[in-house]
Amino acid sequence: MGFSTNLQGKIAHEALVSRQDAELRLLEAMKRCINTRLKCDRDYATALSTLASQGLKIDRGDDLVGSVVCSAWKTMMEEMENASKLIKQNADIVETKALDTLNTLYAEKRKVRKAYQEEHIRISQQFTHLSDEVVRKKTEYQKYLEQYKLMRCKFEEIYIKGGKGGRKLDEVRDKYQKACRKLHLTHNEYVLLLCEAVEFEKDFRTVLLPGLLEHQQSLQEAFILTWKQILQDIARNLDLTSDKFRENQRRVELSIDSIRPIEEYKDFTEKYKTTPAEPVKFIFDESLVEESAGKLLPNQLTVDNLTVEWLRNKLTELEASIKENQEKKTVLTNGHNSDSLVNGKSNNEINNRLSLNFEVSKKELNELKCQERKMLKQIELIKTALNELGCEEVPSGCDISIESQPAFIENSTEQGNGSQSTLLNLANPQRLVNMLRKPFRRRSAPSSPVAPPRTKGRRESAPRSEGGDPVALTTNKSLVDEEWFHGVLPREEVVRLLTVDGDFLVRETTRNDECQTVLSVCWGGHKHFIVQTTVEGSYRFEGPACPTIRELIIYQFNSGLPVTQRSGAILHKPIPRERWELNNDDVVLLDKIGRGNFGDVYRAQLKNSQEIVAVKTCRVTLPEEHKKKFLQEGRILKQYDHPNIVKLIGICVQKQPIMIVMELVPGGSLLTFLRKKSASLAEGQLMTMCLDAAAGMRYLESKNCIHRDLAARNCLVGYNNNVKISDFGMSREEEEYIVSDGMKQIPIKWTAPEALNFGKYTSLCDVWSYGILCWEIFSRGGTPYEGMNNTKAREKIDSGYRMPASENTPDEMYRLMLRCWEYKPENRPNFEQVYSVVETLCNAYRATFC
Ligand code: ADP
Repeated sequence: MGFSTNLQGKIAHEALVSRQDAELRLLEAMKRCINTRLKCDRDYATALSTLASQGLKIDRGDDLVGSVVCSAWKTMMEEMENASKLIKQNADIVETKALDTLNTLYAEKRKVRKAYQEEHIRISQQFTHLSDEVVRKKTEYQKYLEQYKLMRCKFEEIYIKGGKGGRKLDEVRDKYQKACRKLHLTHNEYVLLLCEAVEFEKDFRTVLLPGLLEHQQSLQEAFILTWKQILQDIARNLDLTSDKFRENQRRVELSIDSIRPIEEYKDFTEKYKTTPAEPVKFIFDESLVEESAGKLLPNQLTVDNLTVEWLRNKLTELEASIKENQEKKTVLTNGHNSDSLVNGKSNNEINNRLSLNFEVSKKELNELKCQERKMLKQIELIKTALNELGCEEVPSGCDISIESQPAFIENSTEQGNGSQSTLLNLANPQRLVNMLRKPFRRRSAPSSPVAPPRTKGRRESAPRSEGGDPVALTTNKSLVDEEWFHGVLPREEVVRLLTVDGDFLVRETTRNDECQTVLSVCWGGHKHFIVQTTVEGSYRFEGPACPTIRELIIYQFNSGLPVTQRSGAILHKPIPRERWELNNDDVVLLDKIGRGNFGDVYRAQLKNSQEIVAVKTCRVTLPEEHKKKFLQEGRILKQYDHPNIVKLIGICVQKQPIMIVMELVPGGSLLTFLRKKSASLAEGQLMTMCLDAAAGMRYLESKNCIHRDLAARNCLVGYNNNVKISDFGMSREEEEYIVSDGMKQIPIKWTAPEALNFGKYTSLCDVWSYGILCWEIFSRGGTPYEGMNNTKAREKIDSGYRMPASENTPDEMYRLMLRCWEYKPENRPNFEQVYSVVETLCNAYRATFC
């Protein structure tokens, strides 16, 4: 089955030409692809080489001493480099050998294709030409045949007609002979041509075309052989699995095989053999707690009201974490057990994987165990600290109550702290430390002109050893009847009363909406024990239970045993209520006369003395901090006794609502009074009011009390229009008080610039406010800086503006106001001086008008 026999047809010829074209295109495509492939291989080889040199840049130090992994890696990288070289070499070979041959093949094939086509055309044309000649000859033959026939007819005609001679006959005969000759010649030519055509046709079919095709076949087959060799060369040279590469791979595998986990660290451990590290000791730096006056102890958790909630939350948090931890542990342990079952299969890969998993879970398990141990230790520490508290009430972490200002005046923020006589100034840490160290002062009761409102009077407390035991189990007495029961007196007040070891009292406190009875004892500090209720409904500390709290306290006192082992606190001396600690039931509220920041103000009557008083109540719902703040006014006022200072009669803390009982000042607030009575108030009366206020303020100044909120709204008007200074909610007993943490709810228009700008308060600030108060008095209840908001007023004051005198203000009085409003405090008069100026003015006025 060769070309010569099968491809003679026209279609086959065209197909053969197309085939050769296609092969030429295939050759072109191959050249292109091989070129690209060579480029790829070279790029790849370069990349491999770069990679290998990077991979070889490993630690040159001794750190990988003896590591077989490292040397396997090195082999791997070296072989990578070798592979890179091999790939490059092969690419070069393919380029110089195979690709060149491919180019030659291409050129040869093109030439052969051309020659074949030309030869085919040539012989085909010959054949066509002969065929055409035959046709043409035949046509010529026919033409001459016609002519011959015509001439013969003519000759016969003339011959028959004319006889045997004559010119005409000669002519016709001549023509006839010529036509005959032409016909015969053409006939012969035709015969010869046909003979040639027949022969050529036979040759074309049997010799020429088959010969051409045969030759073509042999050429093409020779090309195919070359082509095959080229492809073989390429395939061989681009084979990445060739022996050379396999050798390469073998070397790598061999070096990897030589890795033995057990051996890997042998040299290394030998070289760096050391003894285990000494444990690191974490030691509490005791200097940190030096300043804490014993409140903070090294390595001991501090349990106080500031930390107890946090500690409890922390405990819950830790316990939850432990639980979670334990669940994780169970999951890991179960997981490991089920892995062990699969381990039975003799499949190395699975076994390896599982053993790795096992190692991982073992590690996780260890980590969980460590975490658990850590948490258990912390839990133990917290539990011990909380348990040690036993029935003791959580101690106060900071005995200074946090001030919160009444919410009636706007703006800026202020945070200050103050106990009765000490103030927490956060800007001055040393002062804070000193304060923490300073024991709470116990103030001796002032000799008040107001008789104690209690029929029982104050009972002197006495130690157990002395006669007249005040802690005796007399019949029918309830706890609240006991002198040493102080109701809801805040802890800050309580600690002031307990000054000597063994001093004690009983009080109530509310924690998380639960009322608790607390035994407060002075014993190397202040201890507060919460009375525990047993399931049977009796009461106890650590000792035996008693049917009533009163009996429990009496037992504790009489037994001389410590309340708790840990505290060692023994009850020596019951501290009775102070004379101003009234029973809530001693006061009958009559009618509401005002509304304060903490609650309503009532006109009330004392049951025992029938005295009519004013009672400020504190809303039960207010937070503890506010209640303490409410009592602050009572705490300050109880020391003062002056006709121009509203008098404290007592505080009611036996139960809620807590109340402050004061003298009733019948005219109510000075501001309302001035506004109501503006028309009827004479200049002299106004002057006297200023004198009253000056007298009250002079008294406060002498007591180092800064009122900080002096204004007509905070003065009361008593009999004969006598003015009394009231509302000591913001007062401080300090020579100088600095508010360091910003100011809030400050009565801007009444406050001196240095207090507004620097938070610095002295009595001279009160002098500024006094100037405003006088202005309010003479304007008969006018609004200072009317039409200006606080910011505007501040700006104006800072720029030197001062309010003009209102109508009918005596010049001297206005001059005094201006002196009170001197920008620099040192340029203002003190209250001593203010008082003498106003007194002189009043005297002069009286001398003139009365
Ligand atoms: P707070 O200090 O809570 O603001 P205030 O001292 O301003 O309360 O009292 C509110 C109102 O109750 C006063 O404006 C006044 O009318 C009335 N008030 C307060 N104390 C007395 C008192 N001792 N005598 C008569 N009225 C008083």
